Parts: sequence; structure tokens; C-alpha cells
Amino acid sequence: MGLRFTAARAVSGISTWGLKNVFHRPAANFPGKMALYVDPQLIAHLRGKLDRGSVCVVGTNGKTTVSNLLADVLEASGQRVVCNRTGANLDSGVSTALLHAGKADWGVFECDELWLAKILPQLRANYVVLLNLFRDQLDRCGEIDRIQDSIVKALGSSPETVLVYNADDPLCASIADRAGQLPGREGTRSIAFGVAESMGLAQNTVSDATMCQRCSTMFEYDWRQYGQLGEWRCPNCGFARPALDFAAENVQLGVNGLAFSLAKPGAGDAGREGAFSVSARFSGAYMVYNLAAVSVAASLLGCTNEALQKAIDAFDPQNGRLQTYDLAGRRVLLNLAKNPTGFNQNLKIVAQDQAPKVVAFFINDKEADGRDVSWLWDIDFEELAQAGPLTAYAGGIRGRDMAVRLKYAGIDAQTVDNADDLLHRIAQQPREVSAYIIANYTSLPGCKAALDAAVAAGGEVEPAAGEAPAPRDFGTQGADGAPAGEDAANGQNPVVIAHLFPDLLNLYGDGGNVRVLQQRLAWRGIPVEIRRVNHGDAIDLSGVDLIMMGGSPDREQKLASADIVAMRDQLDAYVQDMGPLLAICGSYQMLGREWLVDGEKVPGLGLVGMTTGRPGTSGDRLVSNIALRSPLADEPVVGYENHAGRTYLDEGVEPFGTVVSNTGLGNNEETKQDGVRYKNVLGTYLHGPLLAKNPQIADWLLARALERNAKRTGQPLVELTPLDDAPEKAANTFMCDKLGAK
Ligand code: GLN
Repeated sequence: MGLRFTAARAVSGISTWGLKNVFHRPAANFPGKMALYVDPQLIAHLRGKLDRGSVCVVGTNGKTTVSNLLADVLEASGQRVVCNRTGANLDSGVSTALLHAGKADWGVFECDELWLAKILPQLRANYVVLLNLFRDQLDRCGEIDRIQDSIVKALGSSPETVLVYNADDPLCASIADRAGQLPGREGTRSIAFGVAESMGLAQNTVSDATMCQRCSTMFEYDWRQYGQLGEWRCPNCGFARPALDFAAENVQLGVNGLAFSLAKPGAGDAGREGAFSVSARFSGAYMVYNLAAVSVAASLLGCTNEALQKAIDAFDPQNGRLQTYDLAGRRVLLNLAKNPTGFNQNLKIVAQDQAPKVVAFFINDKEADGRDVSWLWDIDFEELAQAGPLTAYAGGIRGRDMAVRLKYAGIDAQTVDNADDLLHRIAQQPREVSAYIIANYTSLPGCKAALDAAVAAGGEVEPAAGEAPAPRDFGTQGADGAPAGEDAANGQNPVVIAHLFPDLLNLYGDGGNVRVLQQRLAWRGIPVEIRRVNHGDAIDLSGVDLIMMGGSPDREQKLASADIVAMRDQLDAYVQDMGPLLAICGSYQMLGREWLVDGEKVPGLGLVGMTTGRPGTSGDRLVSNIALRSPLADEPVVGYENHAGRTYLDEGVEPFGTVVSNTGLGNNEETKQDGVRYKNVLGTYLHGPLLAKNPQIADWLLARALERNAKRTGQPLVELTPLDDAPEKAANTFMCDKLGAK
């Protein structure tokens, strides 16, 4: 141990003392951060404290739960454990946990996906447990591929580390596949776990891996659990869910608990004999995967079924994740959800309870949450309308965005100032009305603090003044969002909206644009029909009134582009005939002559005079909230951009708008312009989804669609009546103020 290490320890000791005694703050990160400045090899120098070694837990969802529970199982087995229990999962958090610990048997560390590449080379963990990869904070990570690359690199830096991965997730299996081919890892096995049978769950709209990363063919599934997890297979190259070394079988999933057995299918009778059986009082399919991961790791580390079950029974981390409160006889469930998959799982938990309830969502957009909230539109809030009577509230910094999202799911929500305000509103309801509070990363602590304070004060909360909105059943509207009872057709031909390749082009809630268009017609009593055209499907555009296509990561974009270029003549005829078309980001790039991916030129549609290049790699991106001045709207148009491509318009080609925000660049670094307008085509880099906070743009497209519909069907032109856009305008104004856009 050198001088640097000794100095680093001294620095950490002083900062820990200062934080605890002077600032009265928890010391989960800062001491390690300071010590790492002094000794960058600190983790390597500290790993000797761990007699038997360590386990790193990575993945988008479930890291904190899995690492805490695994630490508990080890402790229940009589082992001394070091764990970064509060979820401080960068190198500073891991260092701090090690600095504060004495001698131990095992280290169990939750690690951020991108930081594993910094932590693992020093820690040289025995195991990396890889839980899942879903879209989350893409403003930080770019595209999911980048996270995969980073994890593969990390595994390459520690060749003896065994990868334990969720084989139901093709994105994790792909990492195992690539890691297996790395030099130095030939002798290191990977261990696959998964769920052996379908859990029979309803499917959500957006999935993060629809195609094979080896050969770019769409996957086939025998069954899908949620997201991209399931029994998958590529019909072209044969890449398929690997044989499971550990499999959860006989899964039972109920409102108040779950159970399964964990077998080793490859080990014959011995595997069945050594099987663990697990039961827990938690709900949610994602908890089956979390507990399966814990059980596999516990088995590998030599723990018994008894120790595992004992730890699960006692598990009550009180960290706001699936935490139940009793407020003077009123049940309140608090949970974290920070990305679409996590949210969808939470909505399923809420919908299991069909009784009248309060449901509240808190959404912040701080650094740790991601500055963008487009992902709210990748969540199927429409399912809440099937959850029985409810009163909905939206809060947090981006509570207005949340309220708009709920509005388009057909659910009226009121905004609340903060969690205290919410508790007063909850107290207006009869005591038997349960409440569900779902909060994203930085909004969770405020909610937890308010609930903890209410419990500490005896659980009684003063009801807010005024009348309580009674829980309402929002499930009475028709499938297309039109109010029930209205004759949707009215003898009128529906406006036909084609959503092109939503299975491939679906980043940042782009599908929400279709939802917005659909609802804005339905609210006006205008019949509408949505045609989702998936990869491999065909459509006749002569019967279509409006086309929407979204953005996507490079790989999916390339496959979709082949489909779209194959439709070139049809699309050209549609555009020349003044058909309205909205193309976002990846598909906007395809409108031009060409676009670039990994240095390769991909031919575009050539419908518009523009071209898209790429100055660097996929990591060199323009990522930001952004606002434009456009001739199509009175207010600035607000959105969010995240792209590697840079687009240049030919001389005389009109942009969609001029950038007027403090941040954001749009087409490229030079022109301060975004997007393109050509006939009734609107191309833009703005996700958001674009139309949610910019209703005038939505109505501009709809007006063009109605003109085309009238011309196409010979029916009289339908006028667009005004709608109450107060929530949309509030969300727009908030972002304009934030971005300094006038
Ligand atoms: N893959 C494209 C790019 O990075 C488009 C990304 C997107 O649609 N957000 O430029």
C-alpha cells in the first residue's frame, strides 16, 4: 500500500467525519469521491478487505433490490458483507462502502451500467449479475447499444469474472454472446437464468429489442413476459434464448404475493433435488425476475434455501420501493418507477386493485432522472382506464407533462404542488380508499419524507379544503378513445392515420404523436382509424389521410429504412398529392437523399432536398431540450432532440423552424434551424412527442388530413372545432420559460 492509498484513506476519514458531524448528511458518495482523487486505484487497493470476493449487480431495473437482498441472504448465512445499500452506484459509492467497512467475507455492489467499466477492472468481482436492459436516461447513454458496449468492455477488463445474466432478455444474452468471444475469456463460463414458462401477462406497446443483434432479423417469441423478456429466437441466424442454467418454474403471481421454484434444468435429477423454492409477499412480474436473480446468486455463493427465504421474509428496506404505509388506517403504497418498463409494471400492480383509489405520479427531470420526459409516452397509461374508479394527481417538476399524458390516456388529472399537498388531498377521501404514489428517481425521496413525517405525526393528515373529487371510472370510453355512447362513425368515412413501422421506429414516445392525433379527432366526434404498419406489412397509401413515422436507434432505423425505401414510389405519389406526413428524427433523416451510419452511406427516399451526415461516431450526439419558432405555430414549438446525424437542407428548402432556446441545435451545429417543411411534409428532430405540447402543429396536420379525406372520399370538408388546450399550453409555457424561448 503506497503513500497515495494512505493519503486517500485520511481524506476519506476527514470528509466522512465532516459530513456526519458538521453537515449532518449521509456519507454515501463524497468520501469515496475525495479519496479517488488522491488514489485513482483505490478500489483495487481496498478489495483485499473482502476475503471471499465480490458480486456486482448491474441492469436497468432492480439493482438496489437485488443487491440489498443478496447482501441480506449472505448475512443470514453468517457472512460479513459490504454493500452500497443506498444505491450510490458509481465508483465513488463503491469506494465509500469499502472505505467505511472493516474486514468482510463478501462485497455486494450495485453498479451503474456505464460505471461498471470503471469499477470492474479494479474490483475484479467473482460475479457480475446482469438483470435487464431497458431504455432509461437515454439522454445520458445515447442508445442502448452504448450501454451494451460498455458492459462488454468491462467484462473484457476482468476475464475471470463470471457473468450471470438474464437470458430472457436478448440484450443481456447478446452481451454474454459477445463477452464469450473476448480474448482471455475463453475459459470463463457465463451462467444463464430465466423464467421457464409464460406468466401469461398482457403485453405493452413498446419493447426495446425487437430484432436480432447478430443479423438484424425480427425476433420470434414463443411467449413474452414483459418488455423484450421472454422465450425469443431469431428465425434467420438461429440466435435464441440460451439453455437456462437456472430456471424459475411453477410461477404463481398474485395480488399479495408470488412464489416459484428455481431449478437447474441441465443438472437432471440432481438439479431438481437442489432446487430452491421461493415465496414472497411482493407483487409484480418484475419481482419474479429480481428474486430469481437473487436466488441464483445465493445458490452460486453457497447459501441455503433457508437463508434465502429468511432474508426474503424479513426484507423491508424502507427505501420507498414498494413500501406500504398505514396512515391512520389508510393504505398508501409508494414505489419507484423511472422508465417505461418499470412504469408499466407499476400500472399492472395498480390495476390489480379494482377498488376506488387515488393514483399519483411524481415526475422530475433532474440530472439523475434524465432531462427529458418523452418516455412518459412509451408507457401504457391507457391501462389505468381499466383499473376501476380512481382520482389521479400529477406532481413533480414535470407534473404538467404528466397531466398532459394522462389527459390523452383519457384520464383527468389535477396537478399538485408537492407530496404534502397530495397527502392533504388523499385525506379528503374516505379512509378505505387506498392511494398509490409512483415517483421517479429524484422525486421519490420527497414523497417518502412526506409519508414518513405523516406516520411519525400519528398518521392523521388534515384534509385539503374544498370538495374531494370522487374516484371516477375512466374505462367507459370506446377503444379509439371516443366517448362511449357516441356513434363513432356517424356515417362519415374515418380519417385514416398510418403509423409506419412502430415496431422499429418508436423512440422517446414518438408513438404518442399518433395518440395525440387520434384523441384530438375523437374529442371532436370525428371518426378516426389507426393503421399500424409493422415490419413486413404492406399498405396502400391511396386510402390514407395522414402518415406518422418515428425515430429509432441506428440498427432498427436501417431495417426500417429498407421497408420505407421499398415504398418510395407510393410515398412520392402521396407527398406530391399533398398528403400530410410527420417524420421524426430517424425517419426524418430518411426523407433526404442519404444518411450515414457507421461510416456507411444508406440511401434515403430522396423526397426532399436534404442530406444527413455524421461527423463522428454514434456517441457524438446532439442531446437536449429545444424550442423552435415555426410559421406553423403562435407559440414556440418545444421538444427534445437526441441524434448523431446532422442534416443539411439544400438552398431554398424551408426548415420547420428556427432554434430559439438557450439549448438545442436541431439540424446541425451551424444553421440554428431544425427540420424541414415541404408541401405537407413535416420533418423534425423533435421528439417529445412533438404534438403533445404543441397542439397547433397537431391541428395543422389534422386540417391537412381532413382536406385529403374530403378530396379522397367526396364528402364535405369537416372543420376542426377549438379544443380546451390549457394543460398542453401549461406544459409548453413551462418548457419555454425553462429554455428561455420567446
Ligand atoms: N439513429 C439516428 C441518429 O442517431 C436517429 C436517432 C433518433 O431517432 N433519435 O441520428
